[in-house]
Amino acid sequence: MSERIDILGAGLSGLSAAVILARGGYDVHVHEIRKDSGARFDGDFQGIENWTSDIDFFDEMRGWGLDPDEFKSNPFSVIDLIHPDNEITNPKTDGVAFRVVERGTDSHCIDQGFKRMALSSGAKIHYKSKKDPKECQIIAAGPKDSSALAFGEIFHTDHPNHVSFQLNDKLAPGAYSYLIIIDGIGLICTCLWRKQKKSGRYLNETIAWYENHYELNRVPIKRVGGRGDFALPDRYVYEGRYYVGEAGGLQDFMWGFGMRYAITSGVLAAKSIMNEYDYEKEVRKRLIPLVRVSAINRFLMNRFGDKGFKFVARYWMNHQKRKGDGLPFMKWIYQPSIFRRALWPFVKIGMLRRKKLADGRMVSRMPFRKALSRDNWEESQRAKEIREQWKNIQRGGGVVSFNESDSV
Ligand SMILES: Cc1cc2nc3c(=O)[nH]c(=O)nc-3n(C[C@H](O)[C@H](O)[C@H](O)COP(=O)(O)OP(=O)(O)OC[C@H]3O[C@@H](n4cnc5c(N)ncnc54)[C@H](O)[C@@H]3O)c2cc1C
Repeated sequence: MSERIDILGAGLSGLSAAVILARGGYDVHVHEIRKDSGARFDGDFQGIENWTSDIDFFDEMRGWGLDPDEFKSNPFSVIDLIHPDNEITNPKTDGVAFRVVERGTDSHCIDQGFKRMALSSGAKIHYKSKKDPKECQIIAAGPKDSSALAFGEIFHTDHPNHVSFQLNDKLAPGAYSYLIIIDGIGLICTCLWRKQKKSGRYLNETIAWYENHYELNRVPIKRVGGRGDFALPDRYVYEGRYYVGEAGGLQDFMWGFGMRYAITSGVLAAKSIMNEYDYEKEVRKRLIPLVRVSAINRFLMNRFGDKGFKFVARYWMNHQKRKGDGLPFMKWIYQPSIFRRALWPFVKIGMLRRKKLADGRMVSRMPFRKALSRDNWEESQRAKEIREQWKNIQRGGGVVSFNESDSV
């Protein structure tokens, strides 16, 4: 009889592990608390980055036997970079900088693509299932705590496919906002790296900003969001359990691009169970240097306001002029240079807090930062109208598929 493996969580990291293990002949059972894979999200767009290694991530996935054609993706090689003073420039590359995928339960979503791969490999997925984590070998249950929030609106638009990335400390405290448009559906999202009482205020003002700068003809559909958990555990294998994806603190502290870490860590955990690797060693070699650099970058960004963001945006464009390509800048900021490594002790003391989790693991976690006095500003008239518009949409059945105290 084949050896049984139980995985907690049927998101990207859990399903990646399930595919590899089921193909390796294991009797794989995935336990998911929600009704379906992707139900944590509700049709929001996310970008899979292509800058933390030289190999294209889709080629890497194919090398592991994961088929990126199982889900819809749109490659991008150019974006609008919106500086804090509203200047718009265009970082671009000859290849693929990132791909936009949709998260959710529709069949073209990445979560459903991974679900199909897992099922066809022979894994069994138990939805709406509660399982004691102690009975699982792989913990892939996503974030538990909040270090940051993202809040967005999905709408119909007649604008062509497009991505904008905006560095703006007012609209997105400590972070960035973005606009993604794919095939007539748009998403405007603001990320809050400082905790606010009313996140909706920031979203309304961000939408007002984008409407003012792009011809969107926006017809709101729903509001979506989620949280990110940024915590570095002392160990990735604890009491015989493998912690993968965000449950293992494998997230990008700088921007929150966690999907690639989730898929990669799921694959590494599966291959370690199959005796190809030692998970603890492999994660420390391949992923932790990147996660640490992202934490160091986040530490620096937390010290910046819009002046720092302007410096970064200008530096990026100068770097592109020198190199003839915008992607090397993104690769460069994830390089563990001597300067960045020297900052690590300061990051540990200044930004991370030691915490014992309910399962006994010790982590160094980035707490949700407090609001600053500059986060209080007068709403614009257009933002107020957008708030009223959204209330009307809600009365007509428009839903917010996320609340800030979301417990799973
Ligand atoms: C709004 C938002 C935007 C984002 N944008 C990007 C982006 O553009 N690019 C990017 O790379 N990353 C992005 N991320 C981060 C990315 O979504 C995550 O890093 C990634 O999904 C983590 O994968 P995971 O497998 O760890 O968790 P998930 O994919 O969330 O899967 C975890 C699964 O575990 C389930 N679960 C939870 N608790 C239990 C339990 N007790 N028992 C059983 N099942 C459980 C959940 O329901 C879920 O299905 C974004 C995150 C948010 C919230």
